[in-house]
Amino acid sequence: MEAQNHQRNIAFFPLMAQGHVIPTIHMAKLFVSRGLKATIITTTVDAPFILKKIETSGTHINIFTIKVPAVEVGLPEHCENVHSVTSPEMQEKFCKATTLLGPQLELFLKQWRPDCLVADMFFPWATDVASKQGIPTLIFHGTSYFALCAMLCVYLYKPHNQVSSDSEPFVIPNLPHKIELDRKKIPDFYKDGVENEFKKLYEESMEALKRSYGVLVNSFYELEHSYSDHYINVLGIKAWHIGPLWLCNEDEDHKLSTDDHECMKWLDKKKSNSVIYVCFGSLSNFGDAQLLEIAIGLEASGHQFIWVVNKQKNIEETWLPKGFEERIEGKGMIVRGWAPQVMILSHEAVGGFVTHCGWNSTLEAVCCGVPMVTWPLLADQFYNEKLITQVLEIGIGVGAQEWTSRVDGEIVKSENIEKAVTKAMGGEEAEEMRSRAGGYAEMARRAIEEGGSSYSDLDKLIEELRSHAISRGTN
Ligand code: UDP
Repeated sequence: MEAQNHQRNIAFFPLMAQGHVIPTIHMAKLFVSRGLKATIITTTVDAPFILKKIETSGTHINIFTIKVPAVEVGLPEHCENVHSVTSPEMQEKFCKATTLLGPQLELFLKQWRPDCLVADMFFPWATDVASKQGIPTLIFHGTSYFALCAMLCVYLYKPHNQVSSDSEPFVIPNLPHKIELDRKKIPDFYKDGVENEFKKLYEESMEALKRSYGVLVNSFYELEHSYSDHYINVLGIKAWHIGPLWLCNEDEDHKLSTDDHECMKWLDKKKSNSVIYVCFGSLSNFGDAQLLEIAIGLEASGHQFIWVVNKQKNIEETWLPKGFEERIEGKGMIVRGWAPQVMILSHEAVGGFVTHCGWNSTLEAVCCGVPMVTWPLLADQFYNEKLITQVLEIGIGVGAQEWTSRVDGEIVKSENIEKAVTKAMGGEEAEEMRSRAGGYAEMARRAIEEGGSSYSDLDKLIEELRSHAISRGTN
């Protein structure tokens, strides 16, 4: 297989956001490990991060740099990734800027002639650019099969139009389980009369599915087999599951993570399953009022914690209750900025995870057998919450009600946080969740081993791409 694929060349074009770039690096490494050549298309702003990750692993991956036309759409120069976008207005402009990347992508495709392009779901136009060059596109959504099914069914059947208020529940039609949502938990653009860049993008992305070669899914069959079958056999989308991607790169990730981060040493002193880890992904932007509620809730739960907060140290910490840091000394740790998340979740002292249900974080928790307190905020997260709590039964909801990307969005009260943390960390329900999560963790490891479900699906995909290239006369 490896010799046959020696000349096959695959290109990846991720959204400029950590949650998309990280699994893309893992994907590229995975394809290289199976004998293909890989190129990642990225900006000069994100390239150093990617280069650091691939250089440490010793894998050869090409980088092709492009420039997001930030100034052209009214954004500051170098505002070239999602992390430098700080308001909904900027988000909309950034979204617009990405739609102007077509000519740069075309140039790349003409020069490099990859056999296949893996394009982010946020770039639906990329499918058409590649198709003009005779190059097939696989779409990467970076989410679960469950969310892919739910998103498509909401798009196709529009159940949110059948209810009379934002809080009236509706059932998402044509799914294997009875899954209820309400309009508050889906993006604003679903509401009547709303027209904006996001709505356009979302609709184009659903339509691009039909024109693409298929979908690559960072998941494994055993975790959500009924949704994998449903997506492929009932909803009719060609898809391959090749994850959990980070697990395929686990050793390298561990090498790269800051082994000597003080929180790892802190965890070493703790008993098994005694610490809850709290982190809301790479884009978290809670306001001070919400951070205060989290602090009160964690302290009241009485459980030890590691809490990742996107805040620099200040003389006046108005987002913390008075005397908080002194009181929690030895019992809790606040990590400011970036934490070595997979290392933390892999540590035996960690017994629970308060998460925003980003799909990477969710899969990382699954692979480490850690039950979750689910606190979705936006994107696909309310769907993932349903998968975690209702289908897999490895998490407890904190009670988030509203899809929001605003700093001043819904406030979840400290009592709810305390209650959910207490339930996830101790008692019969927690033990049952932990045991189920542990079962999925074992299945995840088997899925990526030779002969496992994800390993075999990737084999099938590579073989198909090879046959496709031969039929196009590019072998
Ligand atoms: N992450 C991390 N340290 C942090 C915050 C996030 O390592 O302090 C990683 C996390 O392990 C995951 C990714 O960033 O791989 C976040 O992706 P996810 O899909 O969970 O959420 P997003 O950031 O896209 O909202």
